[in-house]
Amino acid sequence: TDPALIRNFCIIAHIDHGKSTLADRMLQLTGVVEDRQMRAQYLDRMDIERERGITIKSQAVRLPFTALDDETYVLNLIDTPGHVDFSYEVSRSLAACEGAILLVDAAQGIEAQTLANLYLALENDLAIIPVLNKIDLPAAQPEKYAAELANIIGCEPDEVLKVSAKTGVGVEELLNEIVGKVPPPVGEADAPARAMIFDSVYDTYRGVVTYVRVVDGRLGTRERIAMMSTGATHEMLEVGVISPEPTKVEGLGVGEVGYLITGVKDVRQSRVGDTVTSATKGASEMLAGYRDPKPMVFSGLYPIEGTDYPVLRDALEKLQLNDAALVFEPETSAALGFGFRCGFLGLLHLEITRARLEREFNLDLISTAPNVVYQVIMEDGTEHTVTNPSEFPEGKIDTVHEPMVKGTLLAPSDFVGPIMELCQGRRGVLQGMDYLSEDRVEMRYTLPLAEIVFDFFDQLKSRTKGYASLDYEPSGDQAADLVKVDILLQGEAVDAFSAIVHRDKAYSYGVEMTKKLRELIPRQHYEVPIQAAIGSRVIARENIRAIRKDVLSKCYGGDISRKRKLLEKQKEGKKRMKMVGRVEVPQEAFITALSTE
Ligand code: GDP
Ligand code: MG
Repeated sequence: TDPALIRNFCIIAHIDHGKSTLADRMLQLTGVVEDRQMRAQYLDRMDIERERGITIKSQAVRLPFTALDDETYVLNLIDTPGHVDFSYEVSRSLAACEGAILLVDAAQGIEAQTLANLYLALENDLAIIPVLNKIDLPAAQPEKYAAELANIIGCEPDEVLKVSAKTGVGVEELLNEIVGKVPPPVGEADAPARAMIFDSVYDTYRGVVTYVRVVDGRLGTRERIAMMSTGATHEMLEVGVISPEPTKVEGLGVGEVGYLITGVKDVRQSRVGDTVTSATKGASEMLAGYRDPKPMVFSGLYPIEGTDYPVLRDALEKLQLNDAALVFEPETSAALGFGFRCGFLGLLHLEITRARLEREFNLDLISTAPNVVYQVIMEDGTEHTVTNPSEFPEGKIDTVHEPMVKGTLLAPSDFVGPIMELCQGRRGVLQGMDYLSEDRVEMRYTLPLAEIVFDFFDQLKSRTKGYASLDYEPSGDQAADLVKVDILLQGEAVDAFSAIVHRDKAYSYGVEMTKKLRELIPRQHYEVPIQAAIGSRVIARENIRAIRKDVLSKCYGGDISRKRKLLEKQKEGKKRMKMVGRVEVPQEAFITALSTE
């Protein structure tokens, strides 16, 4: 296709503001999907996506569209993942486009995530088309929110398009606006091929399907390609476009968007952000912006049934085929047995992975409290990277560095007080505050990531009646006064409960955990002290008093069969007990103590 007739765009929207529904209307309007084949949210393929209404993996679809000038254009809609955990993937999808539709619910207004992604789009010099959706809703306030959007992006309120993705009103105008406002791609047709990978998906039948946007030159079938970050070369088996099903083509030229199949079986060999070139006469310079995926949050995952350990390992290996950001290594815990320490991009990534393990592989899992990655510098100058609190080094520590984030919070102005209180309690530092309109503010904070992974979203929602939204991006490391708190049963540390916390919060963590465990662990034949300690200094203590445990005392008289049943039951129960030193702890106690509620 002539690049002058190509428009590459994405839709930036908050969850539920109607991105999938709008994509559906575009598929229908351009005739790519016939009306009778239409089902809601056509492009959302993964079950969990549908259920949670979020887009995890982006897709790209090619829409032929005859505009008002009677020319037929190729519109490539590149779907961006909508969640903070995937901000790097979002940035790569944006880099594949020249324009973005800023889609905002006309009854809700813009949200923090959308605003953060809008800033990303502006940094990438994309043309922005502001659109209010759901104007069919009685609660819609298109005038109010048009003014707000105009204020944010610096346009006139009447330049904000008003559509209903549900009824289709305004969608054709929107497509014409894309043709008119989004610049066509520019690139050098005769240069060596360079294409950017913006997504990479594992398919059981076809291996890895790599989505690319060609910047320069041309990628054809029957040539060997090279991944520029590693130099690895692969045979090209198929090149195609999605419209809306995969369709083979002879090649992809400047500005075109499509997929490649090379026979690799693992998305880590085909990474988002990498540059694809030809193996012979390849380009010498990569496209800018490549970054290795970097796990930010770690958690131990353990099967509740010890015998499921090999199943869990297989399952993690399978998920990794489709998830270059997932890392794991075997780990043993005195309390939880054999499991894996897993690294994730963020909390949602953790949750999704866990849900998929449980659902697709039928596993029951316990996960330890999520923690971030710490850099510990000792007085003798040695450095440790700590991804597991129980591995926090002993000895003379000089400084501990923790990852920080830049957070953007958006809320009705009534909630400024509660938000400040929450962020200050989480060691946040206010960087700035702006009114988006009379009654909505944007607040910018730097915060330790560790303070966000622990129940921040829930707190934010409950303190603002659900009206506030948060987005964040990594912003380097910072030294802080952090200590490891151990929880000990009869003097033995329970590894799964060790935590790295700020010194000011060590005491409350200790008190809370020891209290919880006192309630959860049944009385034993001897007294069991539960302690919280920093190094050898005890900061909190509870006691479980001794009992003579005799289940048979419940049976009056001599009902032998009843007695036998009880003894068997007790044996059965023992299997579910974990020994910590001499102390028997029911597995349930660990599960309950580790859940955040
Ligand atoms: P996404 O999360 O941004 O992909 O949003 P969806 O497309 O899944 O839409 C979220 C919800 O809003 C769904 O229940 C849609 O049916 C509904 N919705 C989307 N667009 C419109 C619209 O224009 N009008 C109305 N009334 N509802 C809409
Ligand atoms: Mg969606």
